[in-house]
Parts: sequence; C-alpha cells; structure tokens
Amino acid sequence: MDTDFDVVVVGGGPNGATAAALLARHGGIAPARIALVAPELAIGAAASGATASGAISADAPPDLRVAAISRASEQLLRNAGAWQQLPQGRLCAYERMRIWHESAPADGPGTLAFSAAELAEPNLGYIVENRALAAAALASFSEQGGRVIAARLHSLASDAAAARLGTDQGAYTARLVVGADGARSQVRELLALPVREHDYGQAAIVANIATAKPHQHTAWQRFLGSGPLAFLPLFDGSSSIVWSAGNTLAEELMALPPVEFALRLEAASDGVLGATRLIGERALVPLRRATAVTLVGLRVALVGDAAHVIHPLAGQGVNLGFMDAAALCGVLARGVAEREDPGAARLLTRYEQERLTHDTLMSWTMSAFNEVFARGPGPAGWMAARLLGLAGANATVRRAFARRALGLAGEVPALAQRGPASATHPVDPREAAC
Ligand SMILES: Cc1cc2nc3c(=O)[nH]c(=O)nc-3n(C[C@H](O)[C@H](O)[C@H](O)COP(=O)(O)OP(=O)(O)OC[C@H]3O[C@@H](n4cnc5c(N)ncnc54)[C@H](O)[C@@H]3O)c2cc1C
Repeated sequence: MDTDFDVVVVGGGPNGATAAALLARHGGIAPARIALVAPELAIGAAASGATASGAISADAPPDLRVAAISRASEQLLRNAGAWQQLPQGRLCAYERMRIWHESAPADGPGTLAFSAAELAEPNLGYIVENRALAAAALASFSEQGGRVIAARLHSLASDAAAARLGTDQGAYTARLVVGADGARSQVRELLALPVREHDYGQAAIVANIATAKPHQHTAWQRFLGSGPLAFLPLFDGSSSIVWSAGNTLAEELMALPPVEFALRLEAASDGVLGATRLIGERALVPLRRATAVTLVGLRVALVGDAAHVIHPLAGQGVNLGFMDAAALCGVLARGVAEREDPGAARLLTRYEQERLTHDTLMSWTMSAFNEVFARGPGPAGWMAARLLGLAGANATVRRAFARRALGLAGEVPALAQRGPASATHPVDPREAAC
C-alpha cells in the first residue's frame, strides 16, 4: 500500500525531534518521507525566546528545565545535525562531579568525586536547556527537508499494510510510527501497549538559583534522607537545582516564601555553594517510574519517556532516549539498505532486543540508588555514606562509574560513538568547529 510517509515521529520534545533529525540524516529514508508531529510545532520553540532555527535570544534567562548531556549524547546530537544548531554560548560544560551523603562533609574522604582531567576528557558533559535541545533538532530536521506537522495525535490503528494516524489537523498513513510523545504517551495508550508503573512518593522541585560561591563547573549532589538534592552549573554562573523529596516535604518547601526557601536550600546543601537566592519560579514534578513492557507494537516503536520514565537522580532520562533513537536509526538504516519495510516486525524486534533490557536495567538501577543512598542518619545512612566513600577512594571504581555516566563504556549504539558518522550521510563540515 502507498502511504503518506515512511516514518511518522509523534512528539517534538528532545527525544522525538532528535529521532526525526537522526532518521533524516542516517536512516536511509528520504527526509520528505519522514514527518514529525506535535502540537507545539506550530510555533517551533518560538515561545519564551527560542526560535525554530534553534536560536535562543542571548539575554533570555536560563530555562527551568535543563538536562545533563553525556558525551555519547553529544556525539549523537552531532550526527543528528542538532549540536551544530545549539546556542553554544548557552551550554555549560561541567568538569567535576561531587556526590556525598548528608552524614559526611562535602569535602571529606566520604565523597565520590571525579573529574574530567582524570579521564583525560575535556569535560564530563554539558548542561543544556531542554527547549534548546528540541529546537535545535527540529531546525536540523527542517533543514534536511523533513515534514513538520503541528498537530495532536488522537487516534492510531495499525495493520499489516500501514499505520493510520488521526490528528486534529488531518489523517495520515505511515509504514512506521515512532512514539516519542512523553511520559503519558498517547501512542502507547492507543495501542494498549502495557507499562509497569511505580510511584516514588516523591516530587522534584526544579528552580534556578544564584549562589554566593561560584559553581566551579561542578555538578553537586547530596543524598538526604528525604531524597537527593542536585546543583547543576549553568552558563550564566547561576545553578539549576533538582531537589527530590517526599511529597509532603516537597509541597511544604514549594509553599515557603522565596527567602525562607533559599535558607532551607542552603541548609540542605550543607552550604556547599554558600547562601542561595531564587531566580524566578519553582516548579514541582511528581516522580514515578514507568517502564513499557514492550518497546514495539504493530508498525510502532517507542523511544524516550514514552518507553521509560526514570528517577532523575543521575540525569540519565533524556540520554537514555537519545540512545533509543540511535539504536532505532541504526536498525532501520540496515533494514532499509536491504530494501526492507521500515515497519517490518523483524526490524522492530531487533530494535527491542537492543534496548529493552538496557532501558529496564537503567530504570531499576536509578530506583536502587534512590533506595540505598536516600537515607537519613542511622545505620542505613552510615552504610550509604560508607559506600560512596569506598567508591570514591577506589580509582578504578571511580573511573568506571564516570566512564559509564559519560557513555564511554557499556553498549553504546554506533551513532553515539566517537568517530566519523557512519554509512548514509557524510559528517557535517560544521561539526569540526564545535
Ligand atoms: C526534575 C527532572 C530533571 C531531569 N534531569 C535530567 C538530566 O539532567 N539529564 C537527562 O538526561 N534527563 C533528565 N530528566 C529526564 C528528561 O527531562 C526526560 O527524559 C525528557 O525530557 C523526555 O523527553 P521526551 O522527548 O521523551 O518527552 P517530552 O519532553 O515529554 O516530549 C513529549 C512530546 O510529545 C508531544 N506530545 C504529547 N502528546 C502528544 C500527542 N497526543 N500528539 C502529538 N504530540 C504529543 C509533546 O507535545 C512533546 O513535544 C529529568 C527529568 C526530571 C523530571
């Protein structure tokens, strides 16, 4: 059957836009045969300072939602042509990471600390605004001739011949639908793909803050009994916080006036960056784990938060979604080169085999870290602090941990590995400048 598109990606967040851009460059499919569908694409990312070209006005304050991007993700974004579209002056490289427990001092021996220098890397990654990631990937996809459809998906059915999508802007057919429509994925729900969910009973407060001491291009994380508190360095010298706490405490903290909140924050961080001051609003994000039992259905593949929502404590969520996109693109490119239908069950099964175990393991590992390390004083807290100290004192363990976090070790899809881009598209000459 003739279809409108070979691939329709549903969802224009960081994962969906990047999957679309990557497929257009490396999927072996003509970009005009790929569509990206999401409601906010009508204005690109024009709201709040960003434009569809990926540019964000230089004086716009840092966005509330940011992500720590690993080296593997950076490489993947380069291959997607998105890295080149990011506003380079708004990226913040971080060179060190320091993780400690509330029962130990931040600069004492009971700390897990590592640096880019000991890995012979220029940095440990970048803190990037989520909307910049999505806008940059969208710009790359558009430049390549991909079709952008500003619409909301409301129906989906698939059979051996095609997938049929109903949106508020019209109906489309495709050989493959990529569900990248986030934690409450409609693609997943409409096809009744099962998901396992767990409520952490925690919520994360996100906010941007000014601090008396400089952030030192360091990502800081202190494990408290109520949950982890992270400070991520931002390009303008301020920091982004992710403060995970039990629901009651999180709501109490949200209700505090800014000055009192800042005092509580300083105490909770053991004053590691001195006095703090809120810049702008706080937002509260309920935390839960969601793991799709299967990543594929008939002519459908899930990527990103549609496939897995994990605890934010190690900043791995969007990175995991990028690796899904890389694996799916690799599988499709190989299949299409052999003239296979991109929605063929054989290809989708291969994608699932590459990612399901890995994604599920990562999700459970984050939950285990939260269980083990978010402990107050007492024997469990003492043990948590001791474990961090032991890991920090052993250079081999420390380096192995850091290399994995950077995506330099473990199973990394080819499109996220260092080196020239593979097969179907030459390296963009602008990459050399980045
Ligand atoms: C507090 C916090 C901190 C985090 N920090 C980090 C970090 O440091 N590093 C990291 O890697 N990850 C981090 N994460 C995780 C990261 O934010 C998510 O994994 C990531 O944003 C998911 O991106 P996505 O594109 O899959 O989904 P989303 O960003 O949710 O995008 C979903 C898209 O689907 C669209 N959509 C939804 N429904 C429909 C529909 N019916 N039709 C069409 N389109 C639809 C939406 O409009 C949107 O475009 C953090 C998460 C939290 C909560």
